[in-house]
Amino acid sequence: MAKKKNRPSSIFIKGTPFDIIYEDVVTDGDEKEELYGLTDVQALWIKISLSKNTTEELLQKTLFHEVIHATLGMGGQGDTIGDEKIEEGIVVCLENGLWQLMDFRKGIL
Ligand SMILES: [Zn+2]
Repeated sequence: MAKKKNRPSSIFIKGTPFDIIYEDVVTDGDEKEELYGLTDVQALWIKISLSKNTTEELLQKTLFHEVIHATLGMGGQGDTIGDEKIEEGIVVCLENGLWQLMDFRKGIL
């Protein structure tokens, strides 16, 4: 089982606190599809799945991904993008590029 270090319970995005909630199963209420993570910029929370994120690194990467969603949303860009699939593509691209900087900060690169 993954160690439970580096699991923040909140994060500030544009000065607004978001709760970070770790749940065994995370679903989008409409689709009943099990998700790695989910962000609600109206309710100000990020949910992270403990069952889908089977390693601590995957959990952290999912949190990183969800923080990008929250940042876009709080910056008003969710409405500008206007399409969930396009936003998801943008978030995945940013996640993949910027995640390397996290390794750089840890001295891995
Ligand atoms: Zn996403």
